[in-house]
Amino acid sequence: MHNSLSERDQLVNWHPYTQMQTAPPPIGITRGEGAVLFTEDGREFIDAVSSWWVNIHGHAHPHIAERVSQQLRTLEHVIFAGFTHAPAVELAERVLKLLPQNQARVFYSDNGSTAVEVALKMALQFWFNQGKDKTKIIAFEGSYHGDTFGAMSVSERSVFTRPFQQYLFEVEFLPVPVPGEEELTTAQLEKLLDREDIAAFIFEPLVLGTAGMVMYSPEVLDHLLELCRAKGILVIADEVMTGFGRTGKRFACDYLSQEPDLMCFSKGLTGGTMALGVTTSSQAIYDSFLSEDKTKTFFHGHSYTANPVACAASLASLDLVEKQSFLENLDRISVSHAAFARTLEGKPGIKVCRQTGTILAIEFEVGQTSYFHSLRDQLYNLALENGVLLRPLGNIVYVLPPYCITNAQLEKVYGVMEQMRNLVVQAF
Ligand SMILES: *Cc1c(COP(=O)(O)O)cnc(C)c1O
Repeated sequence: MHNSLSERDQLVNWHPYTQMQTAPPPIGITRGEGAVLFTEDGREFIDAVSSWWVNIHGHAHPHIAERVSQQLRTLEHVIFAGFTHAPAVELAERVLKLLPQNQARVFYSDNGSTAVEVALKMALQFWFNQGKDKTKIIAFEGSYHGDTFGAMSVSERSVFTRPFQQYLFEVEFLPVPVPGEEELTTAQLEKLLDREDIAAFIFEPLVLGTAGMVMYSPEVLDHLLELCRAKGILVIADEVMTGFGRTGKRFACDYLSQEPDLMCFSKGLTGGTMALGVTTSSQAIYDSFLSEDKTKTFFHGHSYTANPVACAASLASLDLVEKQSFLENLDRISVSHAAFARTLEGKPGIKVCRQTGTILAIEFEVGQTSYFHSLRDQLYNLALENGVLLRPLGNIVYVLPPYCITNAQLEKVYGVMEQMRNLVVQAF
């Protein structure tokens, strides 16, 4: 008699963002296909959150699987200092072609947090190498840039970061320029830019994911970037969540006329297949590290920097990203989300609906709101009982699906969100 995955897991594993004492047992997944996950006890879930925002083409995609398997039989890994390989070269060439024109160099790491760490360190050392005392970073209130110490430092101070507070470096926080608040943000930024010690501004372009899919316009972001760049302040676009189609274009920065100095990618980069991070930089930043003086080197790297298998997964994902059908799917989902959002307008229980491309967020009208609100767990369970994986952030529920999700599957997800609304209306 074999015990289930779920039972065995509970004896040995420690899960992320999970209170292990009170969390329900984990659900054992044996297989994935398209937007669907299959459980060990014969259930199915539509993965409406792309497994923490990473899966963009659907699970176990045959094209990515084939490319990864070929790579595994060719070269699984090689040290990336002093050596290089085809997947890393080709991926850098192809990624740079898709990005704003000023992006000139690719630096590899393992995940979104490290992509951010690398960008922050490059920005700070850019000034250091020139002997300039610019050390302060600007970030948005409510932002999330990862769980390592530097990434935590530029993120919202919250219950997540509380135990580490004294080790987080000081950051200047700006309010998010949500509709109606643009001038407040602009005025605060202008005041900060009068100072001499500002090194860089890091932001999640158009959508602050973990904050609850908080959205703001490309026009106001363009204006903020223009102000920074006029003062020579570096701007860092954290596209870890928004990259590779999420916002309806390939990148959120495709909505902008300003170009970031540094960009961070992970999540959708490999189609959700392998852990990989990329930080890209402008030529000017790269050049500031060139010197006969060895101390100006970028002393940063990871054992698995530019892992060939992860790069191969990313190349296969890019094959799909570059197809016309990729953009068509983004449009199809965007139009579908917008139509559903319109049906919710003014209905009881709905505070506000927000949408940017393939991301739709519904904020429910509830009394007191907090991440730990018990309603959140009720909504989560309601979705699971109906065969849909949705992970509400407090009283905000969002859909962020793999782009292969069918219209019928989308309708099912919307149906569950309607049921959630009914539950909210009954509870308040
Ligand atoms: C998820 C996320 C990160 C961190 O990425 P990890 O791979 O989870 O370390 C950083 N920035 C943004 C905007 C994210 O959404």
